Amino acid sequence: MAGVERVRNQKSMQEVLVQAAAHARKEQRYQQGGFEFFSLAGHILESSCKHLDGVECLRCKYSSELSLAELPEMVFPRNTLTIHFIGTSSFIEFNCLDALKMVSESLPDVKVGASSVWQSARKDRIQQITEQHKPFDWTYTTHYKGSEHSCKVETSTDRIDMERLKRRDAITFSSSVTLFEDELADHGIAQLSARIRVMDGGYFFVLLRFYMRVDNVLVRVCDTRIVGNDNDRHVIREWQLREAKYENLHHVDSEFLLDIDRAWMYLPIIEEQVDRISAE
Ligand SMILES: [Zn+2]
Repeated sequence: MAGVERVRNQKSMQEVLVQAAAHARKEQRYQQGGFEFFSLAGHILESSCKHLDGVECLRCKYSSELSLAELPEMVFPRNTLTIHFIGTSSFIEFNCLDALKMVSESLPDVKVGASSVWQSARKDRIQQITEQHKPFDWTYTTHYKGSEHSCKVETSTDRIDMERLKRRDAITFSSSVTLFEDELADHGIAQLSARIRVMDGGYFFVLLRFYMRVDNVLVRVCDTRIVGNDNDRHVIREWQLREAKYENLHHVDSEFLLDIDRAWMYLPIIEEQVDRISAE
């Protein structure tokens, strides 16, 4: 009897989990002009391996496709944001796995002052990583700018009209997803997120932002902006890496540096790439 009861309990627990998973899943779709936008948000990567019906789990997929010694604390493997060129098989997608594939397999180029608690806090981890001969960039810096599928990508001299983005046009659709986040052992943060705004004025704007801060040491922002006009068959993508050391940011209010949405304005551009992306 007890055995039967347990089976019944397990079953209802599984049902609860399935319901919770379905509930956590948020899907949004919107169409304007020649583009369709799709955003999907699901729950965090499972902490342990689980193979339902013999299907490989996402945990295994991440371990086999990435050679990172450690994943960020929070990974959202189901979250994606997609821009689809209607009537073609061309699309641009933002996802976590492709972003993490671009994290370097060497220790980060973050030189930390001797006085910093950061260095001692990370010492064990760095030592461990070095001993394992599997170093990786624990700041999770990625130069990811989206995954293009069946798209033509060319270097462009056209730029995004930043003034237009500042206009207060009505928003017809918006969505945002987090791809990963890590608190760098309480000494800062590394976060990658993607968001979209479709505007009444006949265009859309996507921002993929990597924000990384090692407290009192360094702030780095890697932004990818994509803007497309409703009736164009192409988009412009601007990718920018900005960073500065705290020692060169004394003139900036530290509150601004903590603000993921504002910090970039105070950081110099280190590297830049502008592309025109069109349907094949
Ligand atoms: Zn597994």
